[in-house]
Amino acid sequence: MSLVIPFVSKTTKAEADQWLAALSKAVPEVKFIPFKALDSPLGHKIAVVANPNPSDISALVDLVWVQSLWAGVEKLVTEPALAKIGISRLVDPQLAQTMAEAVLAWTLYLHRDMPHYKAMQNQRIWQELPYVAATERRVGIMGLGKLGEAAATALTQNGFNVMGWSRSKKSIADVRCFYDDSGLTAMVQQSDILVCLLPLTPVTTRLIDAKLIGQLPDGAALINFGRGPILDTVALVAALNSGALKHCVLDVFDEEPLQPDSPLWTHPGITILPHISAPTTIATAVEIAATNLRAYLKDGTLPGLVDRHRGY
Ligand code: NAP
Repeated sequence: MSLVIPFVSKTTKAEADQWLAALSKAVPEVKFIPFKALDSPLGHKIAVVANPNPSDISALVDLVWVQSLWAGVEKLVTEPALAKIGISRLVDPQLAQTMAEAVLAWTLYLHRDMPHYKAMQNQRIWQELPYVAATERRVGIMGLGKLGEAAATALTQNGFNVMGWSRSKKSIADVRCFYDDSGLTAMVQQSDILVCLLPLTPVTTRLIDAKLIGQLPDGAALINFGRGPILDTVALVAALNSGALKHCVLDVFDEEPLQPDSPLWTHPGITILPHISAPTTIATAVEIAATNLRAYLKDGTLPGLVDRHRGY
């Protein structure tokens, strides 16, 4: 009889079916069953999850390891039912490339003043803004992990003056790397465009607040592709309204989907994206999950576990 592994996710049925088909093809020796279709929640040591319902996870009381199909694991590491369980997050070079592409695209959008030209078009204003070369544009990236490093490299390859900040010291070709609190201030003070690619942890929650935004050069712009609660949107709106900040691109929010009555939708200084900067590619994500599952099934290896103390 095949091993049954629960697939636990809040995704639509159509999306769940795609994941299940891909998982079954990649690991045919395993039967992947959606949580709701399980005969019993008992006796399952492994689960594959993509943004699962906490109550579904807590019903699987025999888990020892969870493979997430998402890169961000803030909800899993704070889930009490998973307190003693190994969690592997998605580390996929394809995802890093997708995010690097998004960071490059939206950096170019801000760098070439597209929001300003669009606003002028709406008012039929024919006016040239001063051109700034990419080499003169300083881009600071908060978070130099799998996604941040790929984004930094894509930006350097396109001529930008790139800086990055992380918890530990890094060395990345053509990137000025900063770390610790004083390093953050030094980087932010020089960032014409600040890009957030941090994970959400107790330390990074509301890290981008009025004080940090106030350290940016006048007329700087911000991109948040990490997680919504890292940014204080009240401070953001105040800085946009005062003109201290020129524009902001938001892909992530405290509550998703963003509520229809949110004032962020209509603020002229904000570009809203519906959490699309780096969607998971099912084919590559499933290959990575399959490799991890096989390693576990072979000898009990729990691959690439999230560090609970750091929270990412
Ligand atoms: P990662 O490889 O774990 O990298 C995280 C980076 O943040 C590391 O460089 C880490 O520093 C740094 N960091 C964490 N806490 C810090 C702190 N307190 N101070 C300074 N630096 C800190 O994660 P990743 O794969 O790059 O993903 C980053 C995040 O992107 C995910 O957690 C998720 O929230 C978000 N994401 C968003 C989307 C989207 O579509 N919008 C898609 C995928 C992921 P060290 O290197 O020193 O550890």
